[in-house]
Amino acid sequence: MSTSPLGCFSPTTGRGRNRRADGIPLCLVSTETAAPKHTPLRLLVLGQGRDLHSERGVECPGDLPAPSDPDLVARARAAKEALGDKVFVLGHHYQRDEVIEFADVTGDSFKLAQQAAARPDAPWIVFCGVHFMAESADILTSDEQTVILPDLAAGCSMADMATSAQVDDCWDDLCDAGVAEQTIPVSYMNSSAAIKAFTGRHGGTICTSSNARTALEWAFEQTGGVEGTGKVLFLPDQHLGRNTAVRELGLSLQDCVVYDPHLPGGGLTKAQLQAARMILWRGHCSVHGRFTVEAVEAARREIPGVKVIVHPECRYEVCELADEIGSTEQIITKVAAAPAGTAWVVGTELNLVKRLSTMFPEQSIAFLEKNVCYCSTMNRIDLPHLVWTLESLVEGRVVNPIRVDPEVAHWARVALDQMLALPGPTHKD
Ligand code: SF4
Repeated sequence: MSTSPLGCFSPTTGRGRNRRADGIPLCLVSTETAAPKHTPLRLLVLGQGRDLHSERGVECPGDLPAPSDPDLVARARAAKEALGDKVFVLGHHYQRDEVIEFADVTGDSFKLAQQAAARPDAPWIVFCGVHFMAESADILTSDEQTVILPDLAAGCSMADMATSAQVDDCWDDLCDAGVAEQTIPVSYMNSSAAIKAFTGRHGGTICTSSNARTALEWAFEQTGGVEGTGKVLFLPDQHLGRNTAVRELGLSLQDCVVYDPHLPGGGLTKAQLQAARMILWRGHCSVHGRFTVEAVEAARREIPGVKVIVHPECRYEVCELADEIGSTEQIITKVAAAPAGTAWVVGTELNLVKRLSTMFPEQSIAFLEKNVCYCSTMNRIDLPHLVWTLESLVEGRVVNPIRVDPEVAHWARVALDQMLALPGPTHKD
């Protein structure tokens, strides 16, 4: 997949700039395709027919209900009832409440893909999440089932930071440096099917934020163990890779190098690649990557006794200061198990944090960073898109199907199966 739904956001949007009075960043839509001087990246302009590949889903080929339609909830209920067991609606934890209300099951990306695979009798799987999740569900479900993404522009900025061509170039650089044979790729679940396929073709594994340690240990074992000289190429989230390698496996920060796909040779010398143990792709989550050390310090100052819990996609310095680190499912589990009166600040996607505060009113739950907003691509799935999707199915029209190329799906499945073969009970994002 190569959706670039964030293309309408200016990469120059920074703290205190281009923001509304309440601190929420403005969505900047340029009327020109511009190439900022400091980066080879081009601004993509959505909705103007200039980059059709990036504009999938920007317009719905049908009647999208107005968000103000007072009958939306009733329409969603009626359509879902009419479809009965033929449709199975999955809702990621980061989805809006208005969407979660209609989910048959909620969870992280891997749990949802597993749930889809466990429903072979449902011909239509409506995936309320983002594109890479729907791809994984398509790979893990049967050919008779169709996975549907209600808005095709619901991509993931992190997944989009590693394209197939870039990763192939990186592998060539590793070959040139003479280190490819001792390097095992480990790719985060939050990657496109093409990157998962690359991982499968090169003998690697997929991981989630729950089993990243196990995946890295397995990968190093293939090349002589953590104490040996083997390497891991970790895609696409540098923070999860660094946090796991340094905080959990005992490697040093100096063992890690960052491969920048926008620089020749990744911005690394052959000697740097040869000395490194962890080659981290320069990718990050545009939500979790924005939590700061200052926000953790402010929370500790302002809320006596507070427990700070963050997702491992947060930056290393932030994780170092946190009391707890956990995947979305682990965050929910830890908050659920805490005694009444516990004060938390939570560093993960805002929809989930808001839901936690509703689910556990006996605890005090706050969002870690006032300058971080919702995941804009997750939020693209809204009730109008869900109603449009369900009503189209009632009318016999399948909109926005996600179909992974069979060759890509085969190799991605190899990497996913390797993850399933890893020891350990949990495989959660
Ligand atoms: S929260 Fe981050 S990793 Fe998750 S979909 Fe949004 S951008 Fe991607």
